[in-house]
Amino acid sequence: MSDRSDRPATELPRRLTAHVEAVRLDPGLYLVATPIGAARDITLRALDVLNSADMLAAEDTRVLRHLMDIHGIPLRGRRILSYHDHNGDRARPALLAALAEGGSVAYCSDAGTPLVADPGYRLALDAAEAGARVHALPGPSAALAALSVAGLPSDRFLFLGFPPPTATARQTWLRNWMAVDSTLILYESPRRVSRTLQDLAVLDGARTVVVARELTKKFEEIIRGTASDLAGDPRMEALKGEVVMVLDRPSPVEVDDDRLQQVLEGYMATMSVKDAAREAAKDLGLPKRDVYQRALALSGQ
Ligand code: SAM
Repeated sequence: MSDRSDRPATELPRRLTAHVEAVRLDPGLYLVATPIGAARDITLRALDVLNSADMLAAEDTRVLRHLMDIHGIPLRGRRILSYHDHNGDRARPALLAALAEGGSVAYCSDAGTPLVADPGYRLALDAAEAGARVHALPGPSAALAALSVAGLPSDRFLFLGFPPPTATARQTWLRNWMAVDSTLILYESPRRVSRTLQDLAVLDGARTVVVARELTKKFEEIIRGTASDLAGDPRMEALKGEVVMVLDRPSPVEVDDDRLQQVLEGYMATMSVKDAAREAAKDLGLPKRDVYQRALALSGQ
């Protein structure tokens, strides 16, 4: 049986193979990651916790109810409390009270990892500040799933969430983040992917961009190209489903050694080697470490 689906994250299995344990949970808040597409992408521990927590809370109670039904987890009289961005202030006290009484509370957002472009931050913070333990139940997240299939450097990456929807704010935002020497991960609405690509193409048309669509679902698609190529690709106009964009880091700036020496000598006439290297690196867009090595060699140290 394929465990892929084009249906919502929590719909699915026709067959249940997981053995769910009723376990005695330590008190505390359990932040439970749930599938981003394929409903069987859930850990056994997540199922155990959903089965055993004293109290359940979810961004959308129907979504969690459905996920529990799929995996054969009974409610056994437990109610699922609604907790989302718009009712957080009202809903938190009941959850914090349960924690204060030594209960176990499991929280799920609609899909993926709670708090990652999803509600849960204030709940986790308030719970920790009130002295409750906050337990992570790691699992799917679209950001890391996209990074893992993007074929871009993964040793250093920055998750940026959603870009601003309005043109001017988005362009400024992209210009700032695109200068960062790191692989960048963005969530984007499929309706805005094309516009975001146009903006990226203006800022750095040669930058490699990966559009990862419908990850773990039936119509999963990984599209790779330069920002310019993808901005002109008609498929980007009519994208459907959920999308993560992954951007390569900026290309190293090519500066010839004579120019580097000239700039360094200019600064070193009035500054320490370290300060001169920092200023020269900033001016030329070069890694500080490399420029510092060159400055040291020039100074004869
Ligand atoms: N908490 C979630 C996580 O850990 O990935 C993210 C929630 S955020 C509100 C929803 C966004 O995540 C979507 O708009 C999309 O950008 C991305 N996303 C979620 N599921 C996805 C999937 N299966 N394929 C591609 N992107 C996905």
